[in-house]
Amino acid sequence: AIENARLYELAQKAIHVRDEFMSIASHELKTPITTLQIQIQGLLRRIRAVGEAAASEGLNARMTASERQVERLTHLIDDLLDISRITAGRLDLHIERVDFASVVRDVTARLDETLSRAGCALVLKIGEPQIGEWDRLRLDQVVTNLLSNAMKYGGGRPIELALTGDADRVRLDVTDHGIGIEPENQTRIFERFERAVSDHHYGGLGLGLWIARQIVDGLGGRISVRSEARQGSVFSVDLPRTRAADPAPGGGADVKPSEGESEDRVRA
Ligand code: ADP
Repeated sequence: AIENARLYELAQKAIHVRDEFMSIASHELKTPITTLQIQIQGLLRRIRAVGEAAASEGLNARMTASERQVERLTHLIDDLLDISRITAGRLDLHIERVDFASVVRDVTARLDETLSRAGCALVLKIGEPQIGEWDRLRLDQVVTNLLSNAMKYGGGRPIELALTGDADRVRLDVTDHGIGIEPENQTRIFERFERAVSDHHYGGLGLGLWIARQIVDGLGGRISVRSEARQGSVFSVDLPRTRAADPAPGGGADVKPSEGESEDRVRA
């Protein structure tokens, strides 16, 4: 009876966590869609009311705003899709020769406008190319996630990105001067749905760092944080340039090539 009561309580807690997540998720999905709808309705009214040439200036700003919302929505949905892929063991990594420095440059160029909107000056310490065998798109996703978080939780302050490497490994440090993370939260934020901020102040699903960790694990590396509350955080990604043919027992994820796939397609 005691065991049953304990299991019942566990099940209730799990249901509560799931329901809470579903409600936050649908809220997060709905917010950009609503804004998008309003923008599009406004656009359509304008197009109907004025001729094409006269409308072009206002149209541009509205189109840009709509585009941003679509991007946000796509990003949220991609995260939800990744989570189901990862839990089903289907996160395929497409390993190729990649220059980490060029990935960082691509991400910062893409987020240039978002950085200035967030009031974050960017200090890049990249230096020479850092070549390794990784999945370019997934690496881009990790860097994008860390830089987006740095802007979100450290808006109005500078952000530093530093890339260093030796013969075997490459390390990226993303430093912000934002709200920081209390010591007791520094481990759990890498877990699924775990957040250390209030939903009222910061939107988000608590999935980005978990997905980043799954990718970095899959590449045989490590993601970590050093932080002081109200001072800022340093998120670090440390990757081996090539994955050891036979990963150390217990370390990282299962990276065996899956059946029917070529050697350079592996699973995390
Ligand atoms: P989300 O940002 O959607 O909540 P993440 O998985 O990216 O999800 O982050 C999990 C949590 O880690 C955040 O809710 C926040 O509490 C904390 N966090 C992540 N990055 C930072 C950062 N740069 N500074 C302070 N807190 C952070």
